Amino acid sequence: MLIAVIGGGQLGRMLALAGIPLGMRFRFLDPSPDCPAAAVGETVVGAYDDPAALSRLIDGADRVTYEFENVPAAAAEFVAQRTMLSPSGQSLTIAQDRIAEKDFFKAAGVPVQAYRGVASEAELAEALREVGVPGVLKTRRLGYDGKGQAVIRDPAAASVAWQAVGRVPCIYEAFVPFEREISVVATRGQGGEFAAHPPTQNEHRGGILRLSTVPTGDAFTDDRELARAAITATRMIAERLQHVGTLAVEFFVTKGPSGASLVANEMAPRVHNSGHWTIEGAFTSQFENHVRAVAGLPLGDPAERSPAAMLNLIGTVPPIGDLLRVPGARLHLYGKAPKPGRKLGHVTVTAADADALGPLVARLRRIIDG
Ligand code: AMP
Repeated sequence: MLIAVIGGGQLGRMLALAGIPLGMRFRFLDPSPDCPAAAVGETVVGAYDDPAALSRLIDGADRVTYEFENVPAAAAEFVAQRTMLSPSGQSLTIAQDRIAEKDFFKAAGVPVQAYRGVASEAELAEALREVGVPGVLKTRRLGYDGKGQAVIRDPAAASVAWQAVGRVPCIYEAFVPFEREISVVATRGQGGEFAAHPPTQNEHRGGILRLSTVPTGDAFTDDRELARAAITATRMIAERLQHVGTLAVEFFVTKGPSGASLVANEMAPRVHNSGHWTIEGAFTSQFENHVRAVAGLPLGDPAERSPAAMLNLIGTVPPIGDLLRVPGARLHLYGKAPKPGRKLGHVTVTAADADALGPLVARLRRIIDG
């Protein structure tokens, strides 16, 4: 089976590494011939919205999928008119627009923070009155890893924030004083079957994911209930989208007098950085379940094999011998040139129990942070 993938980044590379043992072959569309996925499949070099390149990508392919959410709508439409695109264009359209996404969560019965669309500085002033401060102004489209965002703590700073995000259509949302961030990575199959990995606890720095841990820790006694609620919310979203493939939903966990509760922050209609630990830590990885879903194959067991943590390598890669000396550490390099803020790889460490995991994570952190 030949799987065509729009995008040839590290997610595409790891999809192929999961699909090749199942007898699949991969072809990627990417503007760069040296993209991370070039090492594991054929590459069509071209722009994502170039019909000639898209035609070459899908020619003879059994299935088409994508590995990033900013696939141009026209490209998704071009493909969907000719062959089966999974997940569908609807998952993309909603995930590409932060307002459509929040509206969708609300309609699916998933709690979200207060928010308002903002198309001008005057509308931002109204939104500040309605939603209050502090809040976060985010571009509706094309934001990632904390880019295109400004926190507003004082209405007097509104103008500066509006300039900072580039005076483009935005969402203004209430700042959530979260205790922690979690995400659910799950896969929905062609027949509606659903396989959710256990929720991961995520730590960001500078808007970029640094660390994901499973299990999510003992900070809350209602952990189990919270995990169930997060998985149920993800399932409702996947069902409503009729999503086929893997998706991730990120949540803020807040703690009030009546216990912990969830606020959905955003979703990704694809495999997700907070699910990389599943390669070693789960019985079936997010990558394998995605290609299984896309190919119409049965989904695998998403449960965790052991406690696991994933640390991203951002900007630089420390001496790899130091990382590999840590017991249970597994290294994944993406074949990308170093650049500040760029995700160059990740390390996953597994351990027999959660107590044993902590010191290993601390050791890896010291190596990574220098
Ligand atoms: P996002 O691009 O929406 O995932 O935002 C990146 C990170 O910024 C999140 O993972 C949070 O750590 C932080 N953040 C984003 N929105 C909010 C919010 N409304 N309240 C508090 N923190 C936020």
